[in-house]
Amino acid sequence: MTSKVAVVAIGGNSLISDPQHQTVPDQFAATRKTAVHIADMIAAGWNVVITHGNGPQVGFILLRSELASHVLHEVPLDSCGADTQGALGYMIQQCLGNEFKKRGITRQVVTVVTQVVVDAHDSAFARPTKPIGPFYTEAKAQQYRQERGWQMIEDAGRGWRRVVASPRPQRIVERDAIHMLVQAGFVVIAVGGGGVPVVEDEQGQLSGAAAVIDKDYASALLAHSIGADLFLISTSVEKVALHYGTPDQIWLDEMTVAEAKQYMAEGHFAPGSMKPKIEAVIDFLQRDGREAIITSPENIARALAGKTGTRIIPARK
Ligand code: ADP
Ligand code: MG
Repeated sequence: MTSKVAVVAIGGNSLISDPQHQTVPDQFAATRKTAVHIADMIAAGWNVVITHGNGPQVGFILLRSELASHVLHEVPLDSCGADTQGALGYMIQQCLGNEFKKRGITRQVVTVVTQVVVDAHDSAFARPTKPIGPFYTEAKAQQYRQERGWQMIEDAGRGWRRVVASPRPQRIVERDAIHMLVQAGFVVIAVGGGGVPVVEDEQGQLSGAAAVIDKDYASALLAHSIGADLFLISTSVEKVALHYGTPDQIWLDEMTVAEAKQYMAEGHFAPGSMKPKIEAVIDFLQRDGREAIITSPENIARALAGKTGTRIIPARK
């Protein structure tokens, strides 16, 4: 099989359509819709590797763990990540497999529980910035700071929240397994939620870190690590914009790495949403990647045909 490989990073909107529809059946319904667009891509000849976010789902597990803390042990953050890789991977496997069945596509979908090595000396560990899980009272926050060593911050008047580090992904532990499965024609789901963050000691022993890895950065690292032809980020906007959300908004059809860097420096991409995507795309293209696309799930086919989406390329000829 000579089909080209695409890493498709599916955003939060592919798994949870809106805050009123968050139950597991709701998540299946949202995933079924995205599965149609991914199946279209596969039917068109792409070999697809799927990555996904897990922010809300990790939050649910942490809240459940918190509410049950008088009877049950706490769930460490790395285990929460692995739990969501399994549960969300299962959901995507089933939805995509069912879509294949309808179309007579005989490919199998498989999830790889993925560990991603981060640097124990990453500066992110010294100043955690990523709020996760439930809100607490000041007294509870104080208690957990002492009992559990958590770092807590006051979140915009809404209460106290745990903050964790968001270090840069360095290496995908299961890279070879993912690569071989892709080459063999399996549709692979990997680095869910950015991967389970692990640190490596001098003996090469891995252990889980209380951190979260940005799924956009981890997806770019995966795309580079397996030599993907395309890095496609499926999110809640059809295109990337300049002056986003203002009367001067301009939708972008194409930009080069140099232009992307300039726009980023000018502050066009919001931190925590579009900026990490642009940084991830730049990272992929600067490490020999040839093409990246940012668009919404329902526009994937049209974007691949060059009719919409924002295409990012290394340079213009
Ligand atoms: P995901 O779950 O896919 O990672 P995010 O919410 O993190 O989604 O990022 C996508 C969001 O980025 C869009 O819904 C949009 O509101 C926001 N955004 C910020 N800056 C821009 C921009 N310049 N162009 C387009 N969207 C932008
Ligand atoms: Mg995001």
